[in-house]
Amino acid sequence: PPVIAVLPAAGIGSRMQADCPKQYLTIGYQTILEHAIHALLRHPRIPQVIVAIGPDDQQFHQLPIARDPRVRVTVGGQQRADSVMAGLQLAGEAKWVLVHDAARPCLHADDLERLLAITEHSEVGGILAAPVRDTMKRAEPGHSAISHTVERQDLWHALTPQLFPLALLKLCLQRALDDGATVTDEASALEHCGYHPLLVSGRSDNIKVTRPEDLALAAFYLTQLDN
Ligand code: C5P
Repeated sequence: PPVIAVLPAAGIGSRMQADCPKQYLTIGYQTILEHAIHALLRHPRIPQVIVAIGPDDQQFHQLPIARDPRVRVTVGGQQRADSVMAGLQLAGEAKWVLVHDAARPCLHADDLERLLAITEHSEVGGILAAPVRDTMKRAEPGHSAISHTVERQDLWHALTPQLFPLALLKLCLQRALDDGATVTDEASALEHCGYHPLLVSGRSDNIKVTRPEDLALAAFYLTQLDN
């Protein structure tokens, strides 16, 4: 069965210190957003990608990809969860929906395949994630001093894509929004409702371009993907 993809791309990317949202910065011949969209459309089970853009976005419609019939666009909202919700409204009757950050251009086909293969047999879905490698410290509240070390054994970095049953994701996002819960990824909405999505081990080069120094790194990883 087909899987519909939603890309929240309505953020302003304030940490990037660039004069346009980070998803419109170019790496090679394409913007970060286009790299992310193509990584999804390359998979035979993903026939359609829905992009949620900002209300004042002037750039999306200038891109060649805006004329691809497999790409649909909607207007996102204040928070990431609002943007994803807007995208889900266009997903129709799909059983499964995949959410991927517009700012992650380096998604590897093998990771996408593994996420689909492992997660689809679950009831609640799952996410790509990478085990934490550094020693993790919890700070004293409001101070730059260590309170204690957090056991890293069971800590993971949440990545995207994240794959969920469409109906369940809608329900959980709505509840999380209504409750004012902090939702920085889609899995946190399910957690808020008591579900435990799967963790699927993914490559750590699937980075979210957030700070200026991430651009060169993403450019390098993309050349590795092409080979
Ligand atoms: O800010 P952060 O890096 O966590 O954003 C992750 C993704 O969510 C980005 O692709 C960004 O464009 C998107 N986003 C959105 N709507 C918002 C805020 C963020 O679509 N209101």
